[in-house]
Amino acid sequence: RVVVGTKVDQNHVNWVTAYNMLTGIRFTVSRTNAKMDRELTDADFEAKHKFSFDITGNELTPSAKYDFKFKDYAPWVFRHLRATFRLDPADYLVSLTSKYILSELGSPGKSGSFFYFSRDYKYIIKTIHHAEHKFLRRILKDYYNHVQENPNTLLSQFYGLHRVKIPYGRKIHFVVMNNLFPPHRDIHRTFDLKGSTIGRDFKEEDLEANPRATLKDLNWLRRNLHLEFGPTKKKAFIEQMQKDVKLLQRLKIMDYSLLVGIHDLERGNEENLRDKTLQVFQPGGEDAEDPGANMLMRTPSKLENARKAKELRQMIKTQKPIPMDQTTSKMPDELQDPKKNFYFYADDGGFRATHEDETAGEEIYYLGIIDCLTHYSLIKRAEHFFKGLTNQESQISAIPPERYGDRFVRFISGVTKTREAAEREKAEEAAT
Ligand code: ATP
Ligand code: CA
Ligand code: CA
Repeated sequence: RVVVGTKVDQNHVNWVTAYNMLTGIRFTVSRTNAKMDRELTDADFEAKHKFSFDITGNELTPSAKYDFKFKDYAPWVFRHLRATFRLDPADYLVSLTSKYILSELGSPGKSGSFFYFSRDYKYIIKTIHHAEHKFLRRILKDYYNHVQENPNTLLSQFYGLHRVKIPYGRKIHFVVMNNLFPPHRDIHRTFDLKGSTIGRDFKEEDLEANPRATLKDLNWLRRNLHLEFGPTKKKAFIEQMQKDVKLLQRLKIMDYSLLVGIHDLERGNEENLRDKTLQVFQPGGEDAEDPGANMLMRTPSKLENARKAKELRQMIKTQKPIPMDQTTSKMPDELQDPKKNFYFYADDGGFRATHEDETAGEEIYYLGIIDCLTHYSLIKRAEHFFKGLTNQESQISAIPPERYGDRFVRFISGVTKTREAAEREKAEEAAT
């Protein structure tokens, strides 16, 4: 995970796209948040707003460095989702618009999606296919309702859905979501688990060249690893996973995985590579007049972030009178860590292992269900047909959503056990 990607600076091929994405987010999020909050209506789920940016600016949009079009989808729904996930609006803006410093994880999956991390590493922008985009809009209400009923969901937290287009360029859809992994801790091993065995093996011999690779189901089994949760945590984790997977099954979604990042507390933070990769791109001369530019040339301290967030919050609110109680600023800690409120992210952004007696364990798991926008479409059915001719179904990854989900839950539940339980089972096995 320390391979956080390449910094996106002005020399980067995707600089203009990244710049436009962030400019569009800044504009649309401030625009929606400037208004008085209100209840959602059905129309909010269908809403889309198009904006044109150009170098001169117009009565609606401020001037930008480049000409581009930006589309904002269901802004009120996402505003409410961000509130549900306890994101501070100003903090969100600070993270995503701090002078366009992102790092890019170029297309780690087969899908061709690009991933960008906000410079503070809290958020991920993922470019998605048109089909995924259409699908997310279609299921948005179901997702929204699920999240209201399950604020502790393990599913990806979606904070925004947008589209950007440069003249003569193609339309690029993207979502903003939570980065499951923490900015301040090394992740010693990463696994992407689906509960299937076909193609679910990262070649162990390639690990040396790429020690931070994301490993898969077979690598997990080979290492005899477990999600070490004592009774209370295990119950909560499995119950939530079951509820989440029920939704995915009902929406006919598949191909999702449980992403697991393991931080070994004994090893702690050995490498400080991440600090280096997070070192901030220094804006060129043309940005010199920007009042925010200076403080953004290095990683800002908590206090600086809090101050900046407070400023922005005031700016957002200037359109209406500010009630007394809202002007009292929050403590920086609260601002920094909305995750504290969420069961599976409350232990320093993750979920700490526990022993059978519920005392704290040696690892912190950073986990969640990701890549959940693939609909069981015709393509999948075709894949099923072809693979089905040669493989046992238990090994196929493209089985129908119902069975995909059941198999997923079975696998993950099966590997959720304490160290003590695993050792006991091993001893029993040896005895028979
Ligand atoms: P494919 O469809 O081929 O699986 P994809 O482009 O849809 O690929 P994902 O499966 O969503 O990509 O993610 C690829 C990798 O990116 C994950 O294995 C993980 O390492 C990283 N990643 C994705 N989402 C997150 C997240 N929310 N937090 C942290 N890392 C993530
Ligand atoms: Ca995937
Ligand atoms: Ca995918």
